[in-house]
Amino acid sequence: MSSDTAKAEELLRSERERLVRQLAELGAAEDGELRSDIDFGGSFADAAAVTAERTEVLGLVETLRGQVEDIDKALERIEEGLYGTCANCGKEISPDRLAALPASILCVECKSKGVTV
Ligand SMILES: [Zn+2]
Repeated sequence: MSSDTAKAEELLRSERERLVRQLAELGAAEDGELRSDIDFGGSFADAAAVTAERTEVLGLVETLRGQVEDIDKALERIEEGLYGTCANCGKEISPDRLAALPASILCVECKSKGVTV
């Protein structure tokens, strides 16, 4: 494993921890369902506002979970010794892209084509 990959792994793991902590704070366990009894502070008299707030939290939870998933996929690539290569076409992912987005497992071309893995 190159030192760059080791650095990326460290970064991904700490980022994952941060995301999981954020999910826990939102009342959503890493893989569990969102609690139905989330306390929104009780300041919303209007039920519609509570619903809107809840929808917003659910959206955020979804985004965070997606990020955790991406990181897990990238960590898998590291374990397989494939980190830094595109999971779709196998081409090398540019170091600039990896530096900006360490969880990248697709090259720019495949990502822009909307490839999902
Ligand atoms: Zn590719």
